[in-house]
Amino acid sequence: MKFIPYGRQWIDDEDIEEVIKILKGDWITTGPMVKKFEEALCTYIGCDYAVAVNSGTSALDIAVHSLNLPRGSEVITTPLTFVATSNSIVYNNLKPVFSDISKDTRNIDPDEIRKKITKKTKAISYVDFAGHPADIDEITEIAREYNLYLIEDACHALGAEYKGRKIGNFADVTIFSFHPVKHITTGEGGMVALHDEDLYEQLKMLRNHGIDKEAGERYGKDAPYAYDVKYLGRNYRITDFQCALGLSQLKKVEKFIEKRQHLAHLYNELLKDVDFIELPVIKEYTTHVWHIYTVLLDDSINRDTFFNYMRNKNIGVNVHYIPVYKHSYYSKNFTVDPKHYPVTEEVFKRTITLPLHPQMEKEHVEYVVSTANSFRKSE
Ligand SMILES: *Cc1c(COP(=O)(O)O)cnc(C)c1O
Repeated sequence: MKFIPYGRQWIDDEDIEEVIKILKGDWITTGPMVKKFEEALCTYIGCDYAVAVNSGTSALDIAVHSLNLPRGSEVITTPLTFVATSNSIVYNNLKPVFSDISKDTRNIDPDEIRKKITKKTKAISYVDFAGHPADIDEITEIAREYNLYLIEDACHALGAEYKGRKIGNFADVTIFSFHPVKHITTGEGGMVALHDEDLYEQLKMLRNHGIDKEAGERYGKDAPYAYDVKYLGRNYRITDFQCALGLSQLKKVEKFIEKRQHLAHLYNELLKDVDFIELPVIKEYTTHVWHIYTVLLDDSINRDTFFNYMRNKNIGVNVHYIPVYKHSYYSKNFTVDPKHYPVTEEVFKRTITLPLHPQMEKEHVEYVVSTANSFRKSE
């Protein structure tokens, strides 16, 4: 069997044609495709505004920036995530305060959030782990009670639903990524989805140096030269040809999600009798979109031995994630005692991600499962 990566993009000829069309035109960046992509995402999700940028990380950065929190404020977040969730808090001179997770969904545990609240807490930044929405009602209730902003890192969760509504309609700002392993791709890219018009105007400036006029308003014979820099923004602009790719990919998002769901259910079916594997949980009020398929190995199995065994059989297993506080930058700059995160520690020790991407076939899943099954005999 050829190497099966844990995730990868699916780009077809139609996508490529759309990109070529833009490359042959006048605008290759900050042109009409950016707005079209943003509008299409809003229509898909049902939100009012969206701001496209050059990565999910940039989207997180400007989303946090736009809330304008006092220096040194605390933002409660999950340790079991890609480090960008937490980095975006640190970029903005704020302090990430990690809160333990729930074992079943690996999402931040609302009861743990409550224990972490102090006078300095100003926001909660939560992740919809693997594409399974977090406990949004409970988190929203805490935010109301303590007057906190909500940042939803939905980089795993494009198209996911919580109690019948699409992710992108709950937090003050919701962030998506279009990295190649995510549901749709623009190469690199990201988006902030939101409902507030003032935040929207600010986010557009933050992606473009903090400048109050967009490229289109400053182009042409009669355009005035003047503009103002209102915020300390960055250059986080995404190109028009990337947005053409994103727009074309977005047309296929439902197909991609259905394929992922089909493969995940096949894994669940084939793995249910494997005694050393604990399957992922799906709460009945959510639509899970399966960015990744993670299982927990039995205590008797050494995860790293299993990892190497699978890799040697050309299976691109992975680990999501090394807890953020374990990385050396974090342990040097923030004092965090792993003993305070028993669930995160246990999940990290036992978790493994099996390959899942929409172009995988039934045979690939069967090969992964039969190989996993053969591990016990190999010991
Ligand atoms: C992918 C991802 C990001 C960052 O997205 P990029 O587009 O790679 O910058 C942030 N948070 C989570 C949870 C992610 O999975």
